[in-house]
Amino acid sequence: MTKATVEELYDVIIVGGGPAGLCAAMYAGRGMMRTLLIERGLPGGELLNTELIEDYPGFESILGRELAQRMTDHAKKFGATFVTDTVDYLQRRADGVFEVKTELGKTYVAPAVIVTAGGTPSKLEVPGEKEYAGKGVSYCAVCDGAFFRGEVLAVVGGGDAAVEEADYLTRYAVKVYIVHRRDEFRASPILQRRAFENPKIEVIWNQVVEEIEGEERGVRALLLRDTVTGDRSRLPVGGVFVFIGFKPNTGIIRGHVDHDAAGYLITDSQMRTSIPGLFAAGDLRQQLTRQITTAVGDATTAAIAVEKYLAERKETREAAGVGRT
Ligand code: NAP
Repeated sequence: MTKATVEELYDVIIVGGGPAGLCAAMYAGRGMMRTLLIERGLPGGELLNTELIEDYPGFESILGRELAQRMTDHAKKFGATFVTDTVDYLQRRADGVFEVKTELGKTYVAPAVIVTAGGTPSKLEVPGEKEYAGKGVSYCAVCDGAFFRGEVLAVVGGGDAAVEEADYLTRYAVKVYIVHRRDEFRASPILQRRAFENPKIEVIWNQVVEEIEGEERGVRALLLRDTVTGDRSRLPVGGVFVFIGFKPNTGIIRGHVDHDAAGYLITDSQMRTSIPGLFAAGDLRQQLTRQITTAVGDATTAAIAVEKYLAERKETREAAGVGRT
């Protein structure tokens, strides 16, 4: 086993630098904990995929990348250390300390870890999707719906998210098509009923999206293929919301940790997972919604719970006459 150097030893390691990770780093740093945040790309997470944010209190309207920069600066101001690296896995040793192994071959250790690695919306992987992401292609109705006031929209998918978010989008859009690849939804009956009763929603069954067509200003239409007849058609829309699943990034955790059927981590009210010392905050946690505000709320709780956990651990270890970590 690699012997960790003093530089690699922290009080808390935060895995993932989206809003939850950045907020946890700010609180942990401010709480005088030796804090390390590991993020594989630029800090900001999903903020960097969002053009404009209009639902973060205190900022009527702010660019996603600007909010990401402000949160990063804020966390650094309180002393959190940032490294750019990808976590391969983390595991808890018998002495209760976590080893966090990275792609660059580093091992970081700490008695507490907050996982804020978020999740990834599944993509259609069709032409136009990447080109028009943020310009009419969206994966978050609550974040982007208000930009489509008066438009005709399409939602792709047939699960809870698609059906529920289509209903939500009708408060802005004049019409919302739900484009689904089969002839029945997998969404729960109550959500289906709500959608069927909504006069602004029209369901287009048995169709897959083959291409998202656009122009400089954004999305213009979907090119569809009928899964039964093979016929192709063009559906003019001003935007498309893709809800074909969301994968929480929890694969890095070695050992069993409680999660739900979709893979979201189950925590208690202090953001504690089923592994002692392992906390979770943000999109990868099982909860009602996935918003910037809920992510930072989770992270605040997690950082404060970590402080309490470390104090209790220190007391127990001092009573037993063992060392600092
Ligand atoms: P989901 O339940 O996995 O549904 C994904 C939907 O997308 C399915 O209808 C699937 O079609 C379709 N799909 C998958 N890949 C596709 C592709 N390449 N092209 C076209 N369609 C595709 O995902 P979700 O709706 O995001 O929900 C994820 C989890 O969160 C679920 O457990 C859900 O219950 C939960 N959730 C709950 C609520 C709520 O209770 N209010 C809200 C949101 C999410 P098929 O049906 O043909 O497979």
